[in-house]
Amino acid sequence: MHARTRTVDHLVIGGGPAGAMAAIKLAEAGRRVMLAEKEAGPHHKVCGEFLSREAVEYLRGIAIAPADLGAAPIQFVRLSSGSKMAEARLPFQALSLSRRVLDAALLARAVEMGCEVLRGAAVERLTARDEAWRAQINGEEVAAQTVFLANGKHDIRGWNRARGKQSDLIGFKLHWRLKPTQTRALGNFIELFLFPGGYGGLSLVEHETANLCLVVRRAKLRRMGGWGAVLTSVREGNWILRERLQGAEALYARPLAISPIPYGYLASHAYGVWRVGDQAAVIPSFTGDGMSIALHSAALAARMYLAGRSADEYTRTLCEQIRKPMRLATRLSQAMVTASGRMLAPAVLSLLPDTMCWIAAATRVPEGALFARDGSATQSGITLFKAAQ
Ligand SMILES: Cc1cc2nc3c(=O)[nH]c(=O)nc-3n(C[C@H](O)[C@H](O)[C@H](O)COP(=O)(O)OP(=O)(O)OC[C@H]3O[C@@H](n4cnc5c(N)ncnc54)[C@H](O)[C@@H]3O)c2cc1C
Repeated sequence: MHARTRTVDHLVIGGGPAGAMAAIKLAEAGRRVMLAEKEAGPHHKVCGEFLSREAVEYLRGIAIAPADLGAAPIQFVRLSSGSKMAEARLPFQALSLSRRVLDAALLARAVEMGCEVLRGAAVERLTARDEAWRAQINGEEVAAQTVFLANGKHDIRGWNRARGKQSDLIGFKLHWRLKPTQTRALGNFIELFLFPGGYGGLSLVEHETANLCLVVRRAKLRRMGGWGAVLTSVREGNWILRERLQGAEALYARPLAISPIPYGYLASHAYGVWRVGDQAAVIPSFTGDGMSIALHSAALAARMYLAGRSADEYTRTLCEQIRKPMRLATRLSQAMVTASGRMLAPAVLSLLPDTMCWIAAATRVPEGALFARDGSATQSGITLFKAAQ
């Protein structure tokens, strides 16, 4: 045995929405949980920060109310490409909250529920020996009976996820302070924009801060010589974004970046661990559904684990639930970065405004798969789409 081995029942690796939800659900059932998060304190993450209705429902179920944390409401979507633009009402009321605030609230809730949360605790290796999982954390060994892999976008050595179906995009995010007129114009909207080689979104989060998040093809980024040139060309090519960022102040010197993003990845094997969140599935970001899948997969994993089911059964169940929305979202994402997709999208949406509602509903965790606190199914995308008709 390692000189300083600690033994725990359940180890959750990663303190994003998936890791926090898994830890909270296990603690709710009276289990002792250790959660290891590599960052020492609250931090920004590359994310559009859009909280779908399902995500908000899941958060409410664990006593987190994004609105009380200052989340901005979003009821409409505005899609633009070059000089073309279309608007639609979302089939649900969404919210937008910075990940810095949301993830901190989730971990605080995990602590309240009695979880041991280690900060600045990066898991460097994960192996199996003597009937237990062994994790190396800052030079110490932790032995656990069960491991929930919730380390999101960053793979642990030896536990790399397969490539996604669309893996050539790099993600960027930067917060801005807009001019008051532009803040008002953006209020209640998520503004999606398509540009050659990528797409992105702009919306308000708490304190009227605007979040600009975009993905761009790696080849385009290389050709253009970096983020600065891409941002300039996206602004020049899109009048709405040009107007929004006119006179705006970037709130940090450089954007956060993430690469590679394996859009369309869906774990098909468990190999003994419970993969949740982005470790289980990575849906293209234009859907704004990544966090709801993270929360859903973690709640499902905890529930199935507590019911004595295996990690393989859980992985198969999640696959069956989200395969269809994942496939549709990935195809649309692939189309959105092509010239024809970029040209067609606003025209289709202007002619058929319901298309936006249909896409928003069909790219979410399906109805019947979602569970409220009492175990009953909640309304989700398709029901809401129908209700909005
Ligand atoms: C460009 C882009 C835009 C997006 N926009 C949206 C959106 O608007 N709405 C939405 O719902 N989803 C969006 N998503 C998806 C969303 O960000 C993810 O699906 C979600 O964050 C997944 O949650 P998670 O808990 O699995 O992972 P994460 O949120 O990535 O959390 C993982 C945590 O694990 C920690 N960690 C990593 N490695 C280790 C380690 N070795 N040891 C210990 N800790 C570790 C990390 O520090 C991190 O805190 C977007 C994604 C991208 C790339």
